[in-house]
Amino acid sequence: MSHAPSTGPGRAWAGRLGLLLAGLVVGGLVFLVALQVRAGTQPGATEAAVSAERPDPTPDPSTVPPEPDSATDDAGAAHDPPAPLDGLRVAIDPGHDGGNADHPLTINAPVSDGRGGTKACNTVGTSTDGGYPEHAFAWDVSSRLAEELADLGATAVLTRPDDVGVGPCVDARGRFPQEHDTDVLVSVHANGTEDRAAHGFFVIVSDPPAHVAQGEPSLALAEELVDALTGAGFTPSATYDGAISRRSDLATLNHSERPVVMLELGEMRNPDEGALMETEGGRQRYAEAVVDGLVAWAASDG
Ligand SMILES: [Zn+2]
Repeated sequence: MSHAPSTGPGRAWAGRLGLLLAGLVVGGLVFLVALQVRAGTQPGATEAAVSAERPDPTPDPSTVPPEPDSATDDAGAAHDPPAPLDGLRVAIDPGHDGGNADHPLTINAPVSDGRGGTKACNTVGTSTDGGYPEHAFAWDVSSRLAEELADLGATAVLTRPDDVGVGPCVDARGRFPQEHDTDVLVSVHANGTEDRAAHGFFVIVSDPPAHVAQGEPSLALAEELVDALTGAGFTPSATYDGAISRRSDLATLNHSERPVVMLELGEMRNPDEGALMETEGGRQRYAEAVVDGLVAWAASDG
């Protein structure tokens, strides 16, 4: 009785199981092909030795154009006031990149630090204790920032087109604003102090300036961003006077011939700030605060 021969319903069930298995096999093949296609489109996805021959991945910027002004209403008479950032061109640099960790030879290749020395092409960046990486945070905040800026009439240009590539190197990021004729460069990062009690945002400027634009114009931008982030409820870091850090060794800052700052929007290892960064709402708040800072800077800059 326990070994009853297959009945009609039993064979039908076996048939369904066979179909299901066949479906899984086909689905798996499609998935593998998709992976191959995807891998083939990524820069540096081939052997690391090959990518090492090209230590300076070319930035492939993506541009978010401004929203077109609706100059007239239906009657063709009324005009909207000009958008607050009309005509402003903003380079946004999302720190690091999603493929950096898998391409050590490429990102460790030396490039110009902008002061006669060298610096590694790029680094992997930090992450929250929960594993949310800095490159993803920087990419998401930068994308939101680009959209918000476009809504206000600015043209936003990003130094990398997605979050799955390698590089670009820090010298290329620094040269980006003059090579793409932008008025300003904002590099978006978060910090990774090991001390979980460390918290707060800070803004980094190049000091001493390697170009006139890195002096007062960049300091004025840094101060507006500190004010805007503080006004939005974020805590300024107590480590640096006025939450402004001055460094000579950051190639992204040293190469820029336009006003330039690097934002460290918070400490990813701090439980509270890390948790905020992991939420879409938190990242939107960061982006909107940075926009407020840029609006204030553009207004004061004339
Ligand atoms: Zn970083």
